[in-house]
Amino acid sequence: MILKQFKELQSFLETPKNIVIIGHRNPDGDAMGATLGLYHYLKKKGHLPTVVVPNEYPKFLQWLPGSDTTYRFDWQNSQSQRAINSSDIIFLLDFNALHRVGNDMQNTLERYQKDFVLIDHHQQPDDFTYMYSDTEMCSTCQMVYHFIEKMGDIDLIDLDIATCLYTGIMTDTGSFRFRTTTSLTHRVIAHLIDNGAENDRIHSNVYDSNSYGRLQLLGQALSNLEVLPEYKTAYITLTDQEKVANNFTKGDSEGIVNYALSIEGIVMAAIFIEDKEQQIIKISFRSKGTFSVNQFSRENFSGGGHDNAAGGKSDLSIEATIKKFRNLLTENREELVNSYEDL
Ligand code: 5GP
Ligand code: MN
Repeated sequence: MILKQFKELQSFLETPKNIVIIGHRNPDGDAMGATLGLYHYLKKKGHLPTVVVPNEYPKFLQWLPGSDTTYRFDWQNSQSQRAINSSDIIFLLDFNALHRVGNDMQNTLERYQKDFVLIDHHQQPDDFTYMYSDTEMCSTCQMVYHFIEKMGDIDLIDLDIATCLYTGIMTDTGSFRFRTTTSLTHRVIAHLIDNGAENDRIHSNVYDSNSYGRLQLLGQALSNLEVLPEYKTAYITLTDQEKVANNFTKGDSEGIVNYALSIEGIVMAAIFIEDKEQQIIKISFRSKGTFSVNQFSRENFSGGGHDNAAGGKSDLSIEATIKKFRNLLTENREELVNSYEDL
C-alpha cells in the first residue's frame, strides 16, 4: 500500500478528532459502504465522525448501519456546513476530484483550510495531502479495509464495519465477478463474514428490493435496446417521459446497462438517461477487454471512472447525444472489435 504521509496521518489520529467523511454525488454501494464503514471504525477509535452525503441515495442502501446518522448536503445544508467547518480533517472516499460532489458542495470544500485524506480507486486522482490511491483495487471498501489493517486495527472490525464494507465490495465487483476481484478480495470478504457480515441478507437487501415500477422501467429500457454488431456495441435510452410513466425513483436505473453488456459478442454497452432536473443526459458506459470506457468518456462526454466502467454526461438532446455517440463508434471501430479476443 502506498499511502502518502501515512505515519503523519496515523499520529494525527492518535487523539480524538472531529472528522467529516464524504463520498461522491449520486452515491452508490461502494461510496455508502466505504463512508459508513469508515464512520463506524473512527467512532470506535474515539473520534467524532460525521458522514455528509452530497445528495439522495437509493432506498436499497438506506438500511446500511449508520445511514440514519448521515447529513444530506443538499437539504440539511446548515448542519452539513457546520460539520465541515468544525472538522479537523476530511476524508474523501470513492472519488478522485472535488467536482464529483457537485457544484455547491465543491465550493464549500474548496474553501476548506485543513487537510483532506483521499482513499479511492478511480484513475487520475487529483493531489491531496494524504492519499491512498490504487486503481487496481476492486472497490474503495476493500481499500478502507486495508487502511484499517495498516492502522493496526484489524481487530476492531465488527458487525457494522463488516456489513458496510461487504456491501460496497459486493456492489462494485458485480457480486465478485469483475476482473478486479482477486484472491485477496475473497480473503477480505472471508474475514468480513467471519466478523459478522451476513452475505445472504446483504445481497437480498440490495438486490431483492425491486418495485413494480422499476421492473416496468426495465421492460421499457430493454425494448429501447439497440444492438450494433459491427461495433460490438449495444446501448439503451431512457427519456424523462418514460421515467415519469414508470414512477422512476433514485436507483431504479442502476445496473440496467449490464443487460446490454450481457449480449453475446458485445464489448461496449451504454445507457443514456435523460435528467430533466439537471438538464443533462447522464451516461453509463461498460466494456469488456482493452477498450477503455474511462478514456472514451473522459475524451468525449466530460466523464471518467475505470477502464471497464465509467460515467459521463452530455448537454445535447438525447437524439443529438446518440448521434454523437454513433459517430464516435465509427472512429473507434478498430479498438472496439479488437477489445476482447474471445468475442
Ligand atoms: P456509473 O455508470 O455506475 O454511474 O459509474 C461507473 C463508474 O464511473 C463509477 O466508478 C463512478 O464513480 C464513475 N463515474 C460515473 N459518472 C462519472 C462522471 O461523470 N465523472 C467521472 N470522473 N466518473 C464518473
Ligand atoms: Mn467504487
